[in-house]
Amino acid sequence: MKDNSPRDLEQVVIIGSGPAGWTAAIYAARASLKPLVFEGAGSRTMIPGGQLMFTTEVENYPGFRDGVTGQELMMEMRAQAERFGTRILTEDIVDVDFEQRPLVLRSSQGREVRTEAVILATGANAKWIGLPNEERLAQSGGGVSACAVCDGALPAFRDRVLAVVGGGDSAMEDALYLTKFAREVVVVHRRDELRASRIMADRALANPKIRVAWNKVVLEVLGEGEITGLLLQDTVTGEKSELAVSGLFVAIGHTPNTGFLEGKVRLKDNGYVEMPVPWRTHTSVPGVFACGDVMDDYYRQAVSAAGTGCMAALDAERWLAHGGIAAAAATAAGH
Ligand code: NAP
Repeated sequence: MKDNSPRDLEQVVIIGSGPAGWTAAIYAARASLKPLVFEGAGSRTMIPGGQLMFTTEVENYPGFRDGVTGQELMMEMRAQAERFGTRILTEDIVDVDFEQRPLVLRSSQGREVRTEAVILATGANAKWIGLPNEERLAQSGGGVSACAVCDGALPAFRDRVLAVVGGGDSAMEDALYLTKFAREVVVVHRRDELRASRIMADRALANPKIRVAWNKVVLEVLGEGEITGLLLQDTVTGEKSELAVSGLFVAIGHTPNTGFLEGKVRLKDNGYVEMPVPWRTHTSVPGVFACGDVMDDYYRQAVSAAGTGCMAALDAERWLAHGGIAAAAATAAGH
């Protein structure tokens, strides 16, 4: 049996196992850094394989002419990382000490790991409304999604009436994107005023295929195998109504998985990891790098996450080659 146990001192530990984490692992492993990946213990936030495990068909990841399922893509990336010597532990990292050198990580299994460099790739989770049928139909590919760019072009949504829930920029962007395929897009928003930036709101409201259902919350997602409609409630009058739709796109924001990093590495106001240098993956802590959705509140695509995973591994490799901890300590001491 393979021994995946941590060594006395790791060179690089990768936390997270979506496209960013696996790509970082592939690059780090091929650079002979023998990376150790904490792929997550399978809690709802830290599911091994990340958000792609919730999607069905991925049609926009280059190299797969006929599409690939999210799970297959993640299994292939994992296997590719293992092929080059990546060690994998199915545990969460629940605490970090970045004040110490080497850096210290503690896992959900009580394991303590010392490492020269860390790559953060814990991703972000789309927020859901929290309705039982919403979750069921999202997981079964029954017409509920939190990613219009991923799923909007699927045949089931062509020339249909689709709903987008949310009133922010993401909702406007998703609604506009969906007009390429849909007959009509109904934006369901819980207030009478959009949160979206003026330019995005104006653009969406001017589109003849988009209408807004103001002051409405979704009480229930209707349908058995596939979504057939939404049960809405007016937040002002309390009146209930049904809206027949063939697709629901939830666009009410994302939550980055940075809870265990608070006070340890600089985060932006919205909780995402702050990246002090443009086009680099360094964080505020020397030797700690970040990639994928945990630092990207803008693109959030599998392929862009994979790209930044590659960048993080190269940045970590160069940092280690230039002395890593010793160099950082000398700089801190003013040498
Ligand atoms: P957001 O700005 O936080 O907006 C979330 C929207 O969802 C709000 O309208 C909110 O309603 C609604 N909402 C939240 N929880 C809800 C619930 N449980 N049920 C129903 N509605 C709910 O999130 P975002 O739109 O994803 O944007 C995040 C950030 O990315 C923003 O800074 C945004 O400007 C940026 N962004 C920019 C672009 C662009 O410029 N092209 C595109 C996408 C995102 P309330 O308004 O009532 O709170």
